[in-house]
Amino acid sequence: MRDFSEVRRVIIKVGTNVLTRDDQLDEGYIESLAAQVAAIGDREMCIVSSGAIGFGARAMAIRGAVQDVVLRQACAAVGQPLLMQAYRSAFGAHGINSAQVLITREVLDNRASYVRLRNAVERLLELGTIPIFNENDSVATAEIGTAFGDNDQLSALVASKVDAELLILLSDIDGYYDRDPRRHRDAVRLERVDAVSDEMIAEAGRAGSLVGTGGMTTKLKAVRIAAEGGCRVVLAHGRENNVVPRILAGDPIGTVFAAHRKLRNRTRWILHSEPKGAIHVDDGALAAIRRRNSLLPTGITSVSGLFAAGDVVLVNEVVKLVSGFSSRELESLIGRHSSEIASIVGDNRKAIARPEDMVFLDE
Ligand code: GLU
Repeated sequence: MRDFSEVRRVIIKVGTNVLTRDDQLDEGYIESLAAQVAAIGDREMCIVSSGAIGFGARAMAIRGAVQDVVLRQACAAVGQPLLMQAYRSAFGAHGINSAQVLITREVLDNRASYVRLRNAVERLLELGTIPIFNENDSVATAEIGTAFGDNDQLSALVASKVDAELLILLSDIDGYYDRDPRRHRDAVRLERVDAVSDEMIAEAGRAGSLVGTGGMTTKLKAVRIAAEGGCRVVLAHGRENNVVPRILAGDPIGTVFAAHRKLRNRTRWILHSEPKGAIHVDDGALAAIRRRNSLLPTGITSVSGLFAAGDVVLVNEVVKLVSGFSSRELESLIGRHSSEIASIVGDNRKAIARPEDMVFLDE
């Protein structure tokens, strides 16, 4: 039996396929979703909605998949206001305000802008407004490394950053199956999954060429991100009747993925940030930080990338940490003793990173 009675904050992610009917934005679906959310009342609800690129393309009569990056940006710029118009009018019919929140990976990777984003979301929720998130696709492009690309992982990061307890992925598939349901007629939908293994992600990738399961890899990755934030995930078919209230009432719809022990907020931020550069350290230094000691300049053998103090960097491919020094400062500190830091960089910072600034990816 599922029990979501303690859940206060919920993120609902809606995919483009769910929002589409006869190749058009299905405003009736958005109306139904708004009615479901409006009926809930006693919980804080946020939506992550896809569809900007798809609806922008249709509005401009662009046929087929939009692959060119700049065209995708242009389509998103046209489609995003159409999407918001539909949400605002659907929620408005219930006397509820909705708000557009556009994010990029950079916003979430930067600790200061992420905290500001979080404050804004808290205030919107206090004001009884429904925040509607999407990636800011007209400025975030995969080429320059600033894009998430898919809203599954984006929705999990949002859930993690705003401490949601439940993420509902509304998709065009009705759950997670033990085998690819397109190839195996006897595939069974799992009611509950306790942990997402590497094998499950690899298997989902192999099924990726088949219609309808293409997005399972990103969904499983999203589940992992959410689980680390103590957030459960339900994957369900978005067109299931009255799906959101029924999920919250504990109906066994779709698949529920369990949460894990909740990592500290700062740890999650480090873990989910895209590294801005890399540091290589010798075996002794790596062993020392594994024993939860600070990282000192003596052990550094090389530095790559351009980063500022406070950025997240990758160490020997296995540790993500917040560097207390910029890449330029670190280059001048390679192999030097801590006692020399002051004379080289001119202040009294002692360690490159302390144990609380590090996350081991393989532990
Ligand atoms: N952000 C994209 C859009 O609104 C959607 C990404 C996705 O489908 O996951 O068009």
